[in-house]
Amino acid sequence: MEKRTIYLDHAATTAVKPAVFDAMRPYYTEHYGNPSSIYSIARESRKVIETARAQVAKVLGAEQDEIYFTSGGSESDNWAIKGVAFANRKKGNHIITSAIEHHAVLHTCQYLEKEGFSVTYLPVDRYGFVDPQDLEKAITDKTILISIMYANNEIGTIEPVTELGALAKKHKILFHTDAVQAIGNVPIDVKAQNIDLLSLSAHKFYGPKGCGALYIRKGVRIDNLIHGGGQERKRRAGTENIAGIVGLAKAIELATADIGGHNARIAAMRDRLLKGILDTIPNSRLNGHPERRLTGNLNVSFEFIEGESMLLWLDDEGICGSTGSACTSGSLEPSHVMLAIGLSPEVAHGSLRLTLGDANTDEDVDRVLDVLPKVVAKLREMSPLYHKDEKGGGCNV
Ligand SMILES: *Cc1c(COP(=O)(O)O)cnc(C)c1O
Repeated sequence: MEKRTIYLDHAATTAVKPAVFDAMRPYYTEHYGNPSSIYSIARESRKVIETARAQVAKVLGAEQDEIYFTSGGSESDNWAIKGVAFANRKKGNHIITSAIEHHAVLHTCQYLEKEGFSVTYLPVDRYGFVDPQDLEKAITDKTILISIMYANNEIGTIEPVTELGALAKKHKILFHTDAVQAIGNVPIDVKAQNIDLLSLSAHKFYGPKGCGALYIRKGVRIDNLIHGGGQERKRRAGTENIAGIVGLAKAIELATADIGGHNARIAAMRDRLLKGILDTIPNSRLNGHPERRLTGNLNVSFEFIEGESMLLWLDDEGICGSTGSACTSGSLEPSHVMLAIGLSPEVAHGSLRLTLGDANTDEDVDRVLDVLPKVVAKLREMSPLYHKDEKGGGCNV
């Protein structure tokens, strides 16, 4: 019997929904006009981009001309941070972010440090929360930007964004949030939450890869990142990815139509999966906060084993999960997020992230609960650490 794939890596990417794909298709084959052209077939391309912009704006509580389409979450993060940093350099050179950001934010900040900016990486508590008091203490008269993610991609922790945004506003500092993981899982209102810039990416909510957006509040001083033609109201050059933009808009509309219903369905599976894992596998623990987390995110550590080996064994059974984040798998460095919440490198290595989404069913949960305890038991049998610590054996490690 052929093994069914059980996809539990929705935080890494998602499949494009059929309705999204159907909406995109005509913009590759029929309405392929370059929106910058004069002739009438280009008019349809121009029009559909503005319709998409309005749809995205509506979902975020923004205005239509505050939405800019990009090539994805990484570009949006780069643009927000570098763009604000360079445009406001005369005011100050200090940026505040957190230790658990996605590499698209962290590596951008590290690059800016080489360019003469100074960056504070706020620590987080054992659940992964940034403390608003820490943020306020870190603010100086040179601070020009605060960038804190909406929800963490590895442990699912939802940051107190509204509170952090209010602090930024009080001190008249621009506030950016990487909301790539949050869209479709948490309702967002950029105005009510004092968000000045927000990054999102279509492929994390059942849209196409290589397409994202950046919300930039009117009045924010920001330099361009991509120079060239006059697209996106002269702020982001490059012929528009029309089909991608249509797909992004359709996907965000579908993903945010019933966030409560979506979360209720996912939560039922998530709760059963978590309880099953903690009940049947000794020396296992949940990472992140039990409640204030993305509904679909489960991150569990198993002592005495290697996450990478676990993934290979699970893959053999058709189960797709991740350890650390997809961007760091392949390297054996423990994830910066796991270390930031205080896990030892050994425990960090034994972490498994399972992220549920639209693709999952109760059967998937049953299957994981059947397979995972056996995989962990087998790997522990092979682990000298386990024998030494648990059984008092005399193995040298
Ligand atoms: C996936 C992800 C990104 C990068 O988005 P891409 O569209 O893949 O470039 C950035 N931030 C977070 C939190 C993510 O999960």
